[in-house]
Amino acid sequence: MGIFYEQVKERLIRYAKVDTQSQNGVNKTPTTGKQFDLAHMLRDELVKIGVSDVWLDEKNCVVYGTIPSNIEGGMPIGYVTHMDTAPDAPGENVKPWVVEKYDGGAIILNKEKNIVMSPEDFPNLKMYIGQDLICTDGTTLLGGDDKASIASVMTMAEYYTSHPEVKHGTIALAFTPDEEVGGLAKDLDLDRFAAKIAYTLDGDHLGYYEYETFNASWATVKIKGISVHTGTAKGIMINSVDVANEFMSTLPPFEKPQYTDDREGFFHIISVRGTCEEAEIQLIVRDHDPVQFANREPSLEMVTDQLNRKYPSGTVTLDIQEQYRSMKEVIDRVPFMVDYLRQAISDCGIEPRSIAFRGGTDGSALSQRGLPCPNLSAGYENAHGRFEYVPVQSMEKNVEILLRLNELYANL
Ligand SMILES: [Zn+2]
Repeated sequence: MGIFYEQVKERLIRYAKVDTQSQNGVNKTPTTGKQFDLAHMLRDELVKIGVSDVWLDEKNCVVYGTIPSNIEGGMPIGYVTHMDTAPDAPGENVKPWVVEKYDGGAIILNKEKNIVMSPEDFPNLKMYIGQDLICTDGTTLLGGDDKASIASVMTMAEYYTSHPEVKHGTIALAFTPDEEVGGLAKDLDLDRFAAKIAYTLDGDHLGYYEYETFNASWATVKIKGISVHTGTAKGIMINSVDVANEFMSTLPPFEKPQYTDDREGFFHIISVRGTCEEAEIQLIVRDHDPVQFANREPSLEMVTDQLNRKYPSGTVTLDIQEQYRSMKEVIDRVPFMVDYLRQAISDCGIEPRSIAFRGGTDGSALSQRGLPCPNLSAGYENAHGRFEYVPVQSMEKNVEILLRLNELYANL
C-alpha cells in the first residue's frame, strides 16, 4: 500500500457521494446548481490544506488554486479536472464501497436487486486482480469520471503543502463544471489560471494519454418544398422528405460511425424530420485529419448546390457551425508536453499508451483558446453507468505520475 492509498480512497468516496450531475439542454451555467455543492467542498478543502489563491467563481462554478513555486526557474504547469457527472445514468444517492483485493470473480454489487458485475461482461476487471476497487451499489453511476482525478490532484496538492522541503515550480489547479454536457471549460478564466500550459485529467485506463481529438462541426440542412393537393400534384409538388432523402443518399455510405474507427472520419445523421412542405436534417461531421476535415464541408456545399440546380434555387440551405478543433495542431507546437507526459508515466512503471480520441474534450477547446491541454487518463472504468468502478491503485499511481511530471517541469 502506497503512501497515498488512504487519501485517494477517502477522497473519491467522499466526492462521489456529492451529486453533481449536469444536464443536457439547459441554457445556464452551471447547468445544475448542485455542482456548487462539490465546488464549495473543494474550495474549503484547498484552503484547509494550505493551497494559495483559492477562489470559487460563484457565478460560473469554477474553483481555482495555486501551489506557488519554491524554486528558481521551472515552468508553471496546470491541471484541469471536471466536477460534474454524466446525465446518462442515475447520479443521485451514490453509495460507493470498496472491493478489497479483487479475486477475479463476479462482484455482487447489489444483493437485494441481484445486480452483479462479472469479468465475462467486463473483461477489463481481469487487469485489476489483487487491487482494491471502488464500486457502486449497482443503481447509480460512481462518478469516478472525473472525481478519481480530483482525488489524485487534491492528494498531490496536500503532499506539497505538507512537505515544503519538496521542490516544485508553480502548479495551477482548476475544477470546472459541465464537461459531460459540452461545457468545454468555457468559463475557465485563463488570466486567473497561473500556468500557460496544462493537462486535463479525464478518461479511463491508467497510463493512457491523448493529444489528438476530432475536428468537429454541426450542419443543419433545411429544405423547403412545394405542397399541393396530391390529386393535382403532377409537375408541381416538391416533397421535402424526398429531397432530404436525396441529400442523405449522397453521403459516402461507409463513412459513418458504425463503419469507422481509429483515425477515420465520418458524417453522422443526428436527426431527420419533415413533411412535404419542409424538412430538416441535423448532422455532425468528424475527422482527426485537418485537411480531410476541411474537405468535408465543401462536399456538403456541393450537394446543396446540385440540389438547388435540380430544384428551384433556395430549396436547400446549409448552415455549418464549427464545434471544436483537434488539439493536435496546438500541441504540435509544444511537443515537450507529450514527451514529458510519456516520460512521467513510464518513470512510474506504467507503459504510456496513446489513442486518437474519437470525440472532443475540454482540452480541445482550451487548446484552441491558447492553453495547450493534452489529457492524462483518470483511471476509471465503465464510466457513465452503474458498473463504473475505480481501482484505488490507479488513483495512487496517478498521484505519483503527477509528482514526477511536476519534477520534470521544475527542472526546466
Ligand atoms: Zn470525464
